[in-house]
Amino acid sequence: MPSTRTHAPRGALVFDMRQLGRQAGSALTQTRTVPAPDDLRLELIGVPAGADVPLEVRFEAVSEGVLATGTAIAPLAGECARCLAPLTSSVTVGFQELYLYAEGRHDRHDKHDKHDKHDEQEEQDAGEIYHLDGDLLDLEPAFRDAVVLALPMSPLCREDCPGLCAECGAPLADAGPGHRHDAAVDPRWAALQQLSEQGNDKHQDRRAGAIDLQEG
Ligand SMILES: [Zn+2]
Ligand SMILES: [Zn+2]
Repeated sequence: MPSTRTHAPRGALVFDMRQLGRQAGSALTQTRTVPAPDDLRLELIGVPAGADVPLEVRFEAVSEGVLATGTAIAPLAGECARCLAPLTSSVTVGFQELYLYAEGRHDRHDKHDKHDKHDEQEEQDAGEIYHLDGDLLDLEPAFRDAVVLALPMSPLCREDCPGLCAECGAPLADAGPGHRHDAAVDPRWAALQQLSEQGNDKHQDRRAGAIDLQEG
């Protein structure tokens, strides 16, 4: 049985820079709708893997590489941070990253088996240095960083979402403005009330009740 890929095919965000050339100052704008890569999400919201993401990128040759300046509209799906209702929305993401020409990195590419993980880690710690792979520019890491930064930490189904009733957990938007629990008595008062009733009814229980009260 052939396996079906549910995630973005590798290379959906790879752009060929041959057309651009290396003449500093030359520029090229490309538009493309790409399937969203996997794992673009925070706890409450994210971009559904494979969802259509319209993307426009301007590539500009500079002396040391290619400057990529892009805008993407990422669809979002998640849940409201206040009322937990499912929500969908979208976010417009802008990014600009310099991709360096790969000269000087060929050695490392050839010795791929002994790939220097340490160097790569240092580069990442220093704040992501991107390189072209020959004429190919893989926009995915830059795109990914930009989208994750743009995801809301506390997504809301609507800006004035009233959240959930602290008392019964009902969504207040559904429950209506009149929703309240007047009859409810603070459990501590309820305990006191019970004690005083017990005290009135059965004198021998008064001592035990007093101890309960102190503990409470
Ligand atoms: Zn909500
Ligand atoms: Zn309630």
